[in-house]
Amino acid sequence: MEEIVSLCKRRGFVFQSSEIYGGINGFWDFGPLGVELRNNVKRFWWQTMVDLRDDVVGVDTSIIAHPQTWEASGHLSSFSDPMVDCKECKKRFRADQLPEGTTDKCPECGGELTEPRAFNLMFKTFVGAKEDSSSEAYLRPETCQSIFTQFKNVVTTSRQKVPFGIAQIGKSFRNEITPRNFIFRSREFEQMEMEFFIKPEKAIQNEWYEYWHKERLNWYKRLGIRSEHLHMRDHEEDELAHYASACVDVEYDFPFGRSELEGIANRGNYDLSQHIEHSKKDLSYFNQADNEKFVPAVIETSAGCDRTLLAVICDAYQKDEVGGEERIVMRFAPHIAPVKIGILPLSKKLAEPAKKLENDLRKRFKTDYDDAGSIGKRYRRQDEIGTPLCLTYDFDSETDNQVTIRHRDTTKQERVAIDQVKNYIQDVLDASQDS
Ligand code: ATP
Repeated sequence: MEEIVSLCKRRGFVFQSSEIYGGINGFWDFGPLGVELRNNVKRFWWQTMVDLRDDVVGVDTSIIAHPQTWEASGHLSSFSDPMVDCKECKKRFRADQLPEGTTDKCPECGGELTEPRAFNLMFKTFVGAKEDSSSEAYLRPETCQSIFTQFKNVVTTSRQKVPFGIAQIGKSFRNEITPRNFIFRSREFEQMEMEFFIKPEKAIQNEWYEYWHKERLNWYKRLGIRSEHLHMRDHEEDELAHYASACVDVEYDFPFGRSELEGIANRGNYDLSQHIEHSKKDLSYFNQADNEKFVPAVIETSAGCDRTLLAVICDAYQKDEVGGEERIVMRFAPHIAPVKIGILPLSKKLAEPAKKLENDLRKRFKTDYDDAGSIGKRYRRQDEIGTPLCLTYDFDSETDNQVTIRHRDTTKQERVAIDQVKNYIQDVLDASQDS
């Protein structure tokens, strides 16, 4: 994990937030390569979950919602973790995350721990100039509640019919007691959530629940994560959230242990029913074809963008040997790699035509121009940021209109006609996404 964290900083994937002021625990910034990789993960999720389906539509809702939202959803009363303090060193821990066998002694100094007490994870703020209870509001701890509160608006404006889904990507905030494991557990993070509304009958619920397991697991594989590192884990009865009748986690074998990437839950019609009760608005669905009215049940797929990003980074990180030298190589699936093609002129004298070619390729692909140091060194640099293809423009290119394309994973090289380069790159990207 240390090597991965260090590479993320060295190459501009992830920085500590507010580093110059000593950092702020639980918050992270994404650098030039991190933002590209992250955007590619989100784009691929949106494409799979929304663009390629005729039964899912998207929304983008506000981070601060009417505070009654959180009363109705149950977050105000029960979105808390059990917290314990050490009476000696004053450190705080999540009671359910203490090392095995530790119950009353501090894992750091051996001091006595307090009794666990509930700590609400929502960040509180004030809306407007008055700072009193009438202006209290919360940063959302999950993106999905506004999907429920906007359900009716989406139904009436989108021409969707149950079964259908509403998807959203956006920031969520949780005042985690112990943020840890790099970007795995932070206080500000992004979720990729989809609520799929169905008839509330048990058999239908089970069918869609199974369907979304398969779809979601398959998505992680197509993202380039090796299937032997992915696992589905059913929640035990006593682990289920208050609203869920069944839940399965997609887990990944991180260097720090097997941990959750995504939860797929059968939430029944708990959320819509709660919002109907609290808002006194009719959020039920009318099925004209069968002349029936019901409050739909929901299958939720709730994934963390940052956790997925970390899994992608961990899974891509490899060391191998090229020409007797050790290299670090990030084996990102080409379609999500932050840079698609490195443009490496053999000599600085070839800058003009190489730049011209780059400017043309830029319109379609993320490029990186590098003319500093030996070709070998430049390949290593691109390997370390996971660029799947490198293009070398040499003196022959001037006359034969061909360039050399080198593949990151095999280090194999091929001469390609300049007017075929775009198709060549696109084919590599498409193949990786479809595999
Ligand atoms: P955990 O048990 O790890 O705290 P959770 O079960 O509370 O997570 P959910 O409420 O199911 O998480 O949230 C759905 C997804 O949002 C998680 O699978 C995870 O990917 C992401 N997520 C939740 N909390 C965090 C966090 N603090 N930092 C980063 N991602 C998070």
